Amino acid sequence: MKINNLLNKRPTLSFEIFPPKNHGDDLSSIFLTISQLAKLNPDFISVTYGAGGSTSKNTAKIASIIKNQYHIEAVAHLSCIDTSKEDLIDILNELKDNNIENILALRGDYPQDYDQRDLQGDFKYASDLNEFISEQFPDQFCLSGACYPETHFEAESFEQDLQNLKKKVDAGAKYLVTQLFFDNQYYYRLIKRARQIGINVPIIAGIMPATSSKQLKRLSKISDCSIPYSLASMMERFLDDPEACKEVGLHYATYQIIDLMSQGVDGIHIYTMNKPEIAEEILKRTKAIRREYFKD
Ligand code: FAD
Repeated sequence: MKINNLLNKRPTLSFEIFPPKNHGDDLSSIFLTISQLAKLNPDFISVTYGAGGSTSKNTAKIASIIKNQYHIEAVAHLSCIDTSKEDLIDILNELKDNNIENILALRGDYPQDYDQRDLQGDFKYASDLNEFISEQFPDQFCLSGACYPETHFEAESFEQDLQNLKKKVDAGAKYLVTQLFFDNQYYYRLIKRARQIGINVPIIAGIMPATSSKQLKRLSKISDCSIPYSLASMMERFLDDPEACKEVGLHYATYQIIDLMSQGVDGIHIYTMNKPEIAEEILKRTKAIRREYFKD
């Protein structure tokens, strides 16, 4: 099923996983992760794409396992920064042959110390990728895109980033998934301005529970998102107790989700970091609210 058809009916609950690193073609460790996540009844599971490396080859394989063995809708991430049109056609055919109907179309990040001339990609932005896929495989895939409540780090301003986001939606993204954020006010600002400039597709909120102070700082750095004072101070207070820090992170993510649902969020996407127990804990803490929120 195409995810936009689901989103047209009701909000969705979804998870994100990544292909196991340093395992080559051995995907055995991911089976346990998927089977535990499957028990939580997500609407879909998305699989990240590591540009250029061995894990990119495994994205389609893992998406296929999710879809064809666990019968859960799968979204394959696909980045284009270093991909030629020819290679892309092969990847898209593989997804099609495996019955994958949903793609999160991304530009990807420039590698560290890159030289523009070394990049083999035929695409500059995610919107170019959307256009290419729509042209080559009309109506085959439901395309989606990434968005940034606190502004993408290369954009000059929030408003400029928003105008670029509109181009991505006009090029075929049927829904958007946000970068992680810890301050819901940024999500509400994004929704408000997006609607004002005519971005009317569902915008799913991406939530990542930070379960230690170190992880919180790392996430804030790599995702370019701010840490609210209340979260930082709770983490600081229990710095020496890993279990207490984990509890803080889980409570905080739960609070964010409850607040988002009470404001009518289009969907919740949990960045699980391949730790199903974290997603399970959050779902336990929101059982009654979810029952009410996700009913058909
Ligand atoms: P784009 O939409 O192309 O935007 C990139 C920048 O260019 C922005 O600053 C934007 O404002 C600007 N821009 C866009 N279009 C135009 C235009 N037409 N003219 C001028 N400027 C423009 N990375 C991976 O490698 N693998 C993954 O699996 C992955 N999954 C992700 C999932 C989510 C939900 C999110 C939020 C991010 C993910 N990323 C992933 C990271 C992503 O690849 C990076 O954030 C990357 O820097 C931007 O990708 P994008 O698709 O948003 O790019």
